[in-house]
Amino acid sequence: MQGDWVDHSTTVTMFGSKTSSSDHKGTVRRRAERDIVAFGIAIAAILMFVGTGGSVLPKIMRSWLYNENGPDYLLVNALLLNIALILFGLRRYRELMAEIEDRREAEELAKQLAETDPLTGCLNRRSIAPATDALIAEHRDGHGAVAFLMIDLDNFKQVNDLYGHKVGDQLLKATAQRMRDALPPHGLLSRLGGDEFACVVPYDARTPDRVDQIADELIDRISRPHNFDNVPIETTISVGIATTCRIGGDADSDRSLGEKLLHRADIAMYNAKKQGKNRYSWFEATMETELRFRSEMESGIRLGIQNGEFVPYYEQQIDIESGEIVGFEMLARWHSPDHGVVNPNIFIPIAEELGLISAMSEQLIGIALEDAKEWANDLTLSVNISPVQMRDPWFAQKLLKLLVEHNFPPHRLEIEITESCLHENIGQVRSMITSLKNQGVRISLDDFGTGYSSLAQLRSLPFDRLKIDRSFVGELNAEDANEKLINAIIALGDGLDLPITAEGIEDGKILQALRGKGAMKGQGYLYGRPEEALAVRDRLAALGLLKGENETSQTGDTTEAGDLPGQRQA
Ligand code: C2E
Ligand code: MG
Ligand code: MG
Repeated sequence: MQGDWVDHSTTVTMFGSKTSSSDHKGTVRRRAERDIVAFGIAIAAILMFVGTGGSVLPKIMRSWLYNENGPDYLLVNALLLNIALILFGLRRYRELMAEIEDRREAEELAKQLAETDPLTGCLNRRSIAPATDALIAEHRDGHGAVAFLMIDLDNFKQVNDLYGHKVGDQLLKATAQRMRDALPPHGLLSRLGGDEFACVVPYDARTPDRVDQIADELIDRISRPHNFDNVPIETTISVGIATTCRIGGDADSDRSLGEKLLHRADIAMYNAKKQGKNRYSWFEATMETELRFRSEMESGIRLGIQNGEFVPYYEQQIDIESGEIVGFEMLARWHSPDHGVVNPNIFIPIAEELGLISAMSEQLIGIALEDAKEWANDLTLSVNISPVQMRDPWFAQKLLKLLVEHNFPPHRLEIEITESCLHENIGQVRSMITSLKNQGVRISLDDFGTGYSSLAQLRSLPFDRLKIDRSFVGELNAEDANEKLINAIIALGDGLDLPITAEGIEDGKILQALRGKGAMKGQGYLYGRPEEALAVRDRLAALGLLKGENETSQTGDTTEAGDLPGQRQA
């Protein structure tokens, strides 16, 4: 069996030394034989004592009391030997009893060690599923049901990293005790490993609210502050709940009910974390489907980066007054062998969580720089940068290195960051933006209006452009178009001296409305959907906006053949 790594030819003794199992069996057999011989000798000795003692002892008594002739010396010796043998048998019997007691205690200890977690004294991961099965069997009749609550501390790693393992252990022990205190009679408590616990509770299926109450109580008790060696610690938990009530006779039959509950509660716990932690969540079948999809995505993304399945698409950016193409925004797409063309809204957040966004983004930017080198020199390339990348203190250096490697003029590159980048470590973001700007790279604030950047931040950060989110631009399409908000954003841009790009221009009506509001760039489905490099190349070739053969020099020269306004209408 795969994964069955236990070496059956050896066993570990209680004291940790290894003996081979054949040696061990031999010793046990010899000891048993010796015990049988000792037992036989003792029985024979007792029989002989009864036989010899019956005639010899009265004779000895009579010789002492009445001075009669004593018994035969041979018989006396035989009797003494008999007594010695009986004493020997008795001693052996006592030794045997002590040995049996020692063995029983050792077995009990071994069983306890195998079933419990030494730190908290709770059941361990191995024993919780069988114990749950036993509890389910006990409460099967009538309205009996069993709920499995999977519990995970939300910030345990932080506590361990900040205060060390001693405090971490204290927190685990105290948490286990608080759970024990909240556990109803007959409930089971287990530490599954690390900071993961499980409570298994029987309840009446007609009152499932009881389980909600227990979950609430656990959350409440565990969130109360601790104090370990004058270190104040607070923690919260995320709880996933699964119940026997909702498990039908499904196909997954090689798992016991206990194992199924554990699996489902784990999925529900993951969902509680995703919903924001410090809460509980009941298992639902859709969660399992989502999780499966998610894990497929995760492995697909890892492989996809290795296999170069992430490709840049480009969306035109237009001067809305003249209708000329002024540049392209690179938008990532995943050409997944299993899922077809996948949009970034699906894979970017996963790549961010997996810590793969930088690798993916650098790969895409590298390709985009090569593609854009073929375009006319005054066409810009915009790339989106994730907040995760902005947390990397080396981000600016990495980007500048890419520009050098691909020999791409920095002034043609624009990076788009969203307002969420500004919430964390504004000082680091400012110095990064400043060093990129010093090299000539331009910076836009993307999806403007959807986040919470303050006016003070907007003024203090050296942005080059505001991109109005398409949700505001889309408003212009409505019957009773509410233009107040978009007018306010445009006025804000004017006041801060920041040029504007309007995203999401889907039709002529929106374009018309925007045209009266001053100079700005625009992009949207009206001008075309994002397309691959080859299609962009054809489009630009038709407009005479590709670099001439003799101009593929990497100088960043801005004079272009065919760079006339009339020729570059989108
Ligand atoms: P974004 O930067 O705001 O990009 C604009 C999104 O709006 C694109 O979606 C684009 O296809 C879509 N769009 C453009 N015009 C219209 C229109 O007229 N109507 C409507 N309804 N939508 C329009 P897409 O390509 O799905 O990208 C979504 C988001 O994913 C982007 O929003 C950007 O934040 C992110 N993203 C894309 N590529 C990358 C990347 O390489 N790195 C990072 N970090 N994020 C990326
Ligand atoms: Mg963008
Ligand atoms: Mg945007």
